[in-house]
Amino acid sequence: MRKLALHWQILMGMIGGILFGLLISQFGGKSFVVDWIKPIGTIFINLLKLIAMPLIIASLIKGISDLKDISKFSRIGGRTIITYILTTVIAITIGLTLVNIIQPGNLIGQETLEELSKAYASDAETRVNNAQNQKSKGPLQFLVDMVPQNFFAAAGNNRNMLQVIFFTVIFGISMLLIGDKKAKPLVDFFDGLNEVILKMVDLIMLIAPYAVFALLASIIVETTNPDIFKALAWYALTVVIGLGLMIVFYLTIVFFFTGKSPSFFLRGISPAQLLAFSTSSSAATLPVTMERVEEHLGVEKEVTSFVCPVGATINMDGTSLYQAVAAVFICQALDYDLSFGDQLTIVLTALLASIGSAAVPGAGMVMLVIVLEAIGFPKEMLAVGLALIFAVDRPLDMCRTVINVTGDATVAMLVGKAVGKLGSPKVKNWDDNYAELK
Ligand code: ASP
Repeated sequence: MRKLALHWQILMGMIGGILFGLLISQFGGKSFVVDWIKPIGTIFINLLKLIAMPLIIASLIKGISDLKDISKFSRIGGRTIITYILTTVIAITIGLTLVNIIQPGNLIGQETLEELSKAYASDAETRVNNAQNQKSKGPLQFLVDMVPQNFFAAAGNNRNMLQVIFFTVIFGISMLLIGDKKAKPLVDFFDGLNEVILKMVDLIMLIAPYAVFALLASIIVETTNPDIFKALAWYALTVVIGLGLMIVFYLTIVFFFTGKSPSFFLRGISPAQLLAFSTSSSAATLPVTMERVEEHLGVEKEVTSFVCPVGATINMDGTSLYQAVAAVFICQALDYDLSFGDQLTIVLTALLASIGSAAVPGAGMVMLVIVLEAIGFPKEMLAVGLALIFAVDRPLDMCRTVINVTGDATVAMLVGKAVGKLGSPKVKNWDDNYAELK
């Protein structure tokens, strides 16, 4: 198994998991998969989440201290945020254009509408309530939320990544300010810690092919009524075509700005993409994204350590594209007319909603409520609207998470190039990661 590149191993695991899931569903083996196979996938996701916080802290501190000069950090920070916003606006524009051309909402029959809204009413209601909780905050609340009151409390919850990044950036800058001599013991400590955690990522990835087998088999056996997929095929296809165009867009800008070929980029990042697909969570994928961007795409730690964790939290191109398509689809299906101004509002709110979406499964759908409310969609119809798209949300979540992660890697490469921190990859082959174990 070692000889095969990691992405092929993971891909084989995924296909095996899907086939096994389909086969065992025929024999009513759902509980066998849930009891005996799914836990392997859950353990794998837990392991990845386990190292996310230490990895962010160690690599960001090391990254900032390597910069030697604070002005470089503000250059990286500024470029990162601007590029993230630009790519997200492009994603939303692609989504809006496609949904207006294909008009999937007008292709759905009255009977299917009723069937869907009945079948998923209560699930949709829960999402609407979750969104209301998020919304009852003021406009600057997101800034307040970024500043933790207690570092350990913040680091104790993976959802607080921005808080931890905030603390770590100030910590790293202060280390620069006290000068090399005094900071040296800390720099050495975090340097060592960072190396150890990157090695832990390699070790955890050893079980990736088996874990994705387990994750996909359990997604298949837990999928409810596959017939409903057909009714929503045009809508799903619109999202998938949009996401596909985003991949083409990323490959083009990477080639144009960094000169790296599409095959170089895809070979480097594909294991992270496959994990994003299998876990539906950019937060869980983050350690692998960071490792691949740094060691296989050649972006130096100073950039990776900031761009990737911030991207996992706020840059969600796939999610924003999906939110734009889903909002217009729901309006088309329920005959709610949208003006040009409404479509512009969708651009702005999908940008904000994708920034506000947590990097966990299903978060994009919760924040979709905010987009719908911004265009004046009637409150009493929100649950019906969400019920329409509920059935295909998981597979679309898997696909949009791939784009979210690819977008972060793309921006890391662009920013790396812009600030002179894009070199050659440290590791070329998957086996190189284990040279010292042999
Ligand atoms: N699952 C997505 C992510 O983690 C967020 C979403 O669109 O639901 O990136």
